[in-house]
Amino acid sequence: MNQLGSFEDLLDLQQIDLEIDRLLKERESLPELEEYKVAHERSTVLAVEKRDTESRLREMSLELDRESGELELAEAKLGTEQNRLYAGGLSARDATFLRQEVEMLNRKNEETEGRVLELMELKDSFEQQQEDVTVRLAEVEKAKAVVEAVIKERWAVIDARVAKKEVRKADIVPLVEGDLLDLYETLRPTKEGVAVGRLKDGVCGGCHLRLTAAEQIEIAKGDPVRCLHCRRILVI
Ligand SMILES: [Zn+2]
Repeated sequence: MNQLGSFEDLLDLQQIDLEIDRLLKERESLPELEEYKVAHERSTVLAVEKRDTESRLREMSLELDRESGELELAEAKLGTEQNRLYAGGLSARDATFLRQEVEMLNRKNEETEGRVLELMELKDSFEQQQEDVTVRLAEVEKAKAVVEAVIKERWAVIDARVAKKEVRKADIVPLVEGDLLDLYETLRPTKEGVAVGRLKDGVCGGCHLRLTAAEQIEIAKGDPVRCLHCRRILVI
């Protein structure tokens, strides 16, 4: 495993892998992703608020219909009783009784009218709320769509760059000897992406620590040569 070509190619491969790592990191950490997340959370909250408001508005409308219907019937009844009273021909006792009943119905109807008015006001306020939340939701959704488009655009640029690097990588990988490539792939995740370094002036290109002359002679026996300190592959 000591063909020099293989090691130089491995250094090239690492360079490309590091560039790909950097691009993928850039892809994951676009500031727009945070904006999108905030907009998405906001739109989820508003969608729930909108649903709740609509549901309360429906309940309110049903209650209003019911109370209005009751009021209509009660008013009809009141009208009938009043007509009977005005028509006369009743005994004094019946007239008193009917007058009392008309008064009672009047009071009851006034109460129902009050409730109907209250419900109408409530319904108005819920309708206003529903309109507000619908507008706010639409605004957030619009902002979210804008950010989403920016993210897609940025991602497309990054993905195209990564694709180019992958093509170059595919050219280099076959040039690296199999076992060396395996070792490189095993080391990379545990060494911040740097599995191989050049040994220059006795200093490891990976950990930047110096190796004494004796240490250099010792490690040179390794196949592949690896740093005594960080165990990275060294290109001499
Ligand atoms: Zn080292």
